[in-house]
Amino acid sequence: MTKELHLAEHLEKSGIKVIETDLGDRIVQLAGCEAAHPTGPACHLTRHQISELFTKHFEKKVSDDPMELTRVMREEIASYISKAKVGITGANAIAACEGAVVIVHNEGNASKCAMLPDKHIIITTPEKVVPNLDEAVNVTKLQTYLSTGKIISSYINVITGPSYTADIEKQVYKGMHGPKEVVIIFVDDGRLEAADKEAQYCIGCGMCLLHCPTYNVIGPVFGTSGHMGGIGAYLEGSRGRIDEALKGGLFTCTSCGACVEVCPSRVDTKKGIISTRATAKKLKKRGTKEHESLIASVKNYDNPWQVPRRQKSKWSQGLRLKKKGAVLYFAGCSTSLLFPESAKRVVRVMRALGIEPAHLAQDERCCGSTVRKLGEELLAREKAESCFKDFKGAGAKTVVTSCPGCSSALNHYPELAKRYGVKVQHVSQFLDEHLDKSMCEPVKGFESVTFHDPCDLGRAQDLYEEPRRVLAKALGRAPIEMELSRTNSACCGSGSGVKSAYAGLAEAIGRDRIAMAKAAGAKVVVTSCPWCEQNLRECQGEAADVTVMDLVDVVERSLSETGVRRSGKRR
Ligand code: SF4
Ligand code: SF4
Repeated sequence: MTKELHLAEHLEKSGIKVIETDLGDRIVQLAGCEAAHPTGPACHLTRHQISELFTKHFEKKVSDDPMELTRVMREEIASYISKAKVGITGANAIAACEGAVVIVHNEGNASKCAMLPDKHIIITTPEKVVPNLDEAVNVTKLQTYLSTGKIISSYINVITGPSYTADIEKQVYKGMHGPKEVVIIFVDDGRLEAADKEAQYCIGCGMCLLHCPTYNVIGPVFGTSGHMGGIGAYLEGSRGRIDEALKGGLFTCTSCGACVEVCPSRVDTKKGIISTRATAKKLKKRGTKEHESLIASVKNYDNPWQVPRRQKSKWSQGLRLKKKGAVLYFAGCSTSLLFPESAKRVVRVMRALGIEPAHLAQDERCCGSTVRKLGEELLAREKAESCFKDFKGAGAKTVVTSCPGCSSALNHYPELAKRYGVKVQHVSQFLDEHLDKSMCEPVKGFESVTFHDPCDLGRAQDLYEEPRRVLAKALGRAPIEMELSRTNSACCGSGSGVKSAYAGLAEAIGRDRIAMAKAAGAKVVVTSCPWCEQNLRECQGEAADVTVMDLVDVVERSLSETGVRRSGKRR
């Protein structure tokens, strides 16, 4: 909270010396940089860098031995605390029934700040208040476990008031061994009035940061002072502070949803960021010029790639696809324009399975996936509804998409699917239902294959096993797994307009993912999303040593091995 308020800077400007007492915070204070994690503020600095920093600060050589580093700083902080008039702490939880403030820490510094100066000021926020002490202790256990992996922290202070004694003539005298005065300041700052309070359930454990692809590349540039990463932008946005959310990197989130998966408080930061973007749009606050062009392109051309609509159906020329039918193939903008061969492949594979797909050709519209993530809610719904109308007009009962962004965007409106009587499936679901193992022969030369879960397929639609089952049929065995897979899968870096506006960030995230594939021993990464495929290929540059392929490509090769692709479904 003090960081959100920039309290230290304000006090220093008023001539009051402020010493951070947590070792990490003190290191960061001396380095003049941003903290890198809420509970490990200096985790981005090496012991050698800290040694150089301390040598300069203490004007004497301080070795890079961690014990030496902690000793010299402990002595300095202790000397400041012994002279301090005021100790300031936060609160991890406040028990309403008992009027007790609970503070958890491992270093012991918070106890000293609370006990040694004459006055203890607790600066906190209303959402820290829980009904009673039992609940407050539960909160602290959760924080400790998620922040440090320990069951319980080294210290838990429960403070209900100043230190006092009544040992002389049964009169109460305050300030015996501890402070005479304990003051609690609740900083609301728009919290109580916020219509969306979900961001306030954040307990500051920092788990989301460890899994956030954007944060792992750009660090605290993503987030706001005191609230790092996507939760910072969301917390600002939920309080109507859109300019602060924009400064905190509102549009650098890939909407991967990894943070939601690991959050102990189940804060849906992904949803919060999208709704903050929507608020930004309503207030006419613009994102990036690349995003504005992308949105204009969806409005004008029905695709985000700024190309005339008729180009989208070029891939289907010569395939003699009907425009009406019970099973409709929805290639989507990105597959159609970036990977036209993949679209043809889906048609060939469906035909090999004995299913003749229909296709809307140049009448196929944009599903609205990217614009919804960029905050254009109305436009996205309008696009989705137009698609459903077209599906019904084509007599479709099942719509198969190549891109999980399309199936996720269309299934975002279950009421539309119900109203128009259409089931939308991703191609991996469709193949999981229709591809029989007997039709497949293991593809030769594909020994080390892993599957990259697209965020729009896995976390957004809970489709983890379907593509793996299909791949296992085509390979004759299960793919190898990367350390981060399924619900914990890492993002490719491309989503939510990040590739369009921040190509360098997208590629850096993609390189991290390729490194994970290599670490798992994979030579081939199979995915089932054109955005992932594009970014995972491009991030490797010319010297790509990992092949990135589409799932349907592997399936077609497997069917070719048995001759099913040429002769049709084998019974
Ligand atoms: S949003 Fe969730 S995971 Fe992230 S710091 Fe807050 S409580 Fe922890
Ligand atoms: S959705 Fe992904 S990129 Fe966005 S804040 Fe969460 S983890 Fe980070």
